[in-house]
Amino acid sequence: MNKKFDMMSIEERRAYILETAVLDEEDLEILKNGGLTTEMADSMVENVIGTYSLPFSAVPGFVINGKEMTIPMVGEEPYVTQSTMHGAELAAKNGGFTAIASESVMVGQIQMTGIANPKTSRLGILRAKEEISRAANDCDPVLLKLGGGCRDVEARIVESIQGSMVVVHLLIDVRDAMGAQTINRMVEAAAPVIERITGGKANVKVVSNNAVYRIARASVTIRKEDLGGEEFVDRFVSAYAFADADPFRAVTNNKGVMNGMIPVVVATGNDTRAVESGVHSYAARTGRYRPITVWEKNADGNLEGMIETPMVVGTVGGTSRFHTAARTSLKMMGITKAKELEEVIVSVGLAANLGVLYSLVTVGLFGDFDDARK
Ligand code: NAD
Repeated sequence: MNKKFDMMSIEERRAYILETAVLDEEDLEILKNGGLTTEMADSMVENVIGTYSLPFSAVPGFVINGKEMTIPMVGEEPYVTQSTMHGAELAAKNGGFTAIASESVMVGQIQMTGIANPKTSRLGILRAKEEISRAANDCDPVLLKLGGGCRDVEARIVESIQGSMVVVHLLIDVRDAMGAQTINRMVEAAAPVIERITGGKANVKVVSNNAVYRIARASVTIRKEDLGGEEFVDRFVSAYAFADADPFRAVTNNKGVMNGMIPVVVATGNDTRAVESGVHSYAARTGRYRPITVWEKNADGNLEGMIETPMVVGTVGGTSRFHTAARTSLKMMGITKAKELEEVIVSVGLAANLGVLYSLVTVGLFGDFDDARK
């Protein structure tokens, strides 16, 4: 790329994307038009009278797990794309991001009421694991064929304002789906079996957004020379220590991480609320709200960054069935699997955090990023 992407005209950027990002003219036409007609929107949600547009940006030059890719970002906030791009550039000079996502296992909850003997009922539920799993799996043969389905059954006794409650968890591998609807159907199907076993009544049956089994992680190492020396590494680490100690700062840190993540979640037609509730619950898991990123100095005096968070997104089902621009975004990145998308999203979050922290500890938010590196 002779000219920097952000310095190009819109037409030059489009030409660059056609050359490099495996998109064709038809894909570009989709992005120009927003990817969603009113008729398509009408089949997505209720009471439609029109559609609503947002800027669609591309960020080339990301290196994730050794693969160079262009990231789609949809969002309204100025400077977010720019600082994420700066973070991506710094990372690419240093070999890029290394990311890994766990299996796509999510929790479906069934609240059991009217149980006189919670402790012995709990054992009855655990003994009937096979039958409960079968009832859940039978309602999604497609998922089962793809290697997904119910992996385990847990039964918890939860103390509530109404006394002891038995809460059953189905741990379900949803493969490439975001999975909420899949799980909602499976817990509905399993509930009558649990009612028969316990003699109780299944009340709330629904997915949990506390996705502690569906975690994505990414890391990056930046040479101290690329940050202006070890003193800047120390400033980075000190900024992290501040965020780790003070929830006022931690919340803003995580908002900055999501400045990178959420535009990719939107671009791929995924559920922003599901991602954000997962991030916040994980950030607060120790009882104090903390950053989902970590910055440390390694033995060589270089900066090491890490992100760890639930990441609940899919490449099939949900909105992607209707939204052509969401499918084009996945094509732009060459992604078909949910795990790959999760790895990309946390890497983009780490890039956003890197870009903005770099500005904060050097020239400040309103300074010139390129000046800081001179
Ligand atoms: P879905 O039901 O549209 O698609 C999932 C289904 O696709 C699976 O059950 C399976 O049968 C099929 N499938 C085909 N190929 C697959 C593959 N490779 N991997 C996995 N499944 C495959 O969608 P969903 O992902 O279950 O639900 C997502 C939607 O649910 C989102 O729109 C979200 O906003 C919404 N939602 C979220 C919540 C929440 O987060 N609390 C609650 C309700 C609804």
